[in-house]
Amino acid sequence: MSDVSRLRELVAQSCRVLGKLNLTKEPSGHVSARVPGEDRVLIKARGPEESGLRFVSARDIITVDFQGKKVAGDDGLETPQEVFIHTWLYKTRPDVHCVVHVHPLTVVLFTICDKPLLPLYGAYDPSGLRLLTDGLATYPRSITVSNEQLGEEFAKAMGNKQSCLMRGHGITTAGPAVEEATLTAIKLNDAAEINYRAALLGTPRPIPPEDIEILVGKARPNTRSVHANSNWRYYCKLLDEEPV
Ligand SMILES: [Zn+2]
Repeated sequence: MSDVSRLRELVAQSCRVLGKLNLTKEPSGHVSARVPGEDRVLIKARGPEESGLRFVSARDIITVDFQGKKVAGDDGLETPQEVFIHTWLYKTRPDVHCVVHVHPLTVVLFTICDKPLLPLYGAYDPSGLRLLTDGLATYPRSITVSNEQLGEEFAKAMGNKQSCLMRGHGITTAGPAVEEATLTAIKLNDAAEINYRAALLGTPRPIPPEDIEILVGKARPNTRSVHANSNWRYYCKLLDEEPV
């Protein structure tokens, strides 16, 4: 398998994982990856022949250029309207090799109510904690990011963060690899679930700063968590698959 074919399979696998975990609604949402060394992107297509995320195969992944124009892919598969979320992150951030955009219900609730996601857990998931302490970007508008101007505006709002909460809409995560950006989306959703349930149960208390210091300090420098590979394998196994 060529590197690009493998990358296409990996983008499709990421879609299936996110779909399996119900991290998005119906067929909405897309995952993309930068084609190494080219101004091109592999992205999950929309259009009349599209598949819902849970059922995506490599066929659903089309190739677009940095203007969001489809350059390869089956008929009936089209560029997602919000391709500009992806292209602008690739154009402005050389560190980004994968972008995930989905609409996870619980996170969307927090964007609607303007409630912060608090650092409520430590050893439960240190890398999830770190995601929160690193700070989440927010995009205050609730519209479809469907042109160059909005793509640029969105990329500015996200800055150099790994994840961005989009008001009344969803989330975007970005990372150096497909597995990493996908796990970030999953962890962000987990953080929202815990915050939501804790608020239902009582008054959530953030964990002590000294514990945050120890736990987050452990996770630095900016490298993959030691558990990232096994976490990814776990989610692939949920699909009865091996990692691509
Ligand atoms: Zn969207």
